[in-house]
Amino acid sequence: MIKVDDIHKSFGAVEVIKGVSFEVKQGEVVCIIGPSGSGKSTILRCINGLETYDSGTITFDGRKVDPSDKSIVGIRTQVSMVFQRFNLFPHRSVLANVTEGPIQVKGEKKAAAEAMAVELLEKVGLANKLDAFPENLSGGQQQRVAIARALAMRPSAILFDEPTSALDPELVGEVLTVMRDLANEGMTMVVVTHEMGFAREVADRVLFLESGGIVEEGPPKELLRNPRHERTQDFLHRVI
Ligand code: ADP
Ligand code: MG
Repeated sequence: MIKVDDIHKSFGAVEVIKGVSFEVKQGEVVCIIGPSGSGKSTILRCINGLETYDSGTITFDGRKVDPSDKSIVGIRTQVSMVFQRFNLFPHRSVLANVTEGPIQVKGEKKAAAEAMAVELLEKVGLANKLDAFPENLSGGQQQRVAIARALAMRPSAILFDEPTSALDPELVGEVLTVMRDLANEGMTMVVVTHEMGFAREVADRVLFLESGGIVEEGPPKELLRNPRHERTQDFLHRVI
């Protein structure tokens, strides 16, 4: 479904992505781990066209991801993104946050969009918060709204960029539970995370990224338990 083929990306003179390639098949969960500044967010942003890349190709369902082409609008509705800092609209209710995309981008009728939003908010355990505003929710609840909002676009894949890193520790579990449920339902997911327990349990494959390159990739049982590369071992010793 997602094919990243030898992409390179520089900011000014600094090359931050140095020939990264990987594929994500339909229904797969791929976790990307690696130190801060290694290029994890940049890769996710390139996949849904929020960022340009200098060379190589990214394709989604066989279509080239090209931020300068109008096809990017369609690709973005199929590849939703969930950010570390929720990015909800602060002056809108929970329900309005979830219906905004379907109504504005997909031209859905308000009633239909609201019916679907209620269903999705039930799914993430927030059926009783439809009229609440983001500032009155905990970080975990806000992130669950953000996931419902991503799902409202009926995406084929969801990219998560450290979705639990901004949360107090006691709120991490409720968000990971929602993500685990999505994975079990067969959602295609690319997850940048420091939650090694989640990666071990849910990922089909884990990529270890360092300095803009994939050092090692494999099933979580191999990569997390018996990493082959010293750099992966060092990283895992620091985070676990
Ligand atoms: P990660 O998500 O793994 O922490 P990022 O993808 O955010 O890493 O960043 C990779 C590198 O690119 C870092 O050195 C960062 O400082 C740099 N970088 C990211 N975004 C920009 C930008 N818009 N302009 C300049 N440098 C950037
Ligand atoms: Mg990042």
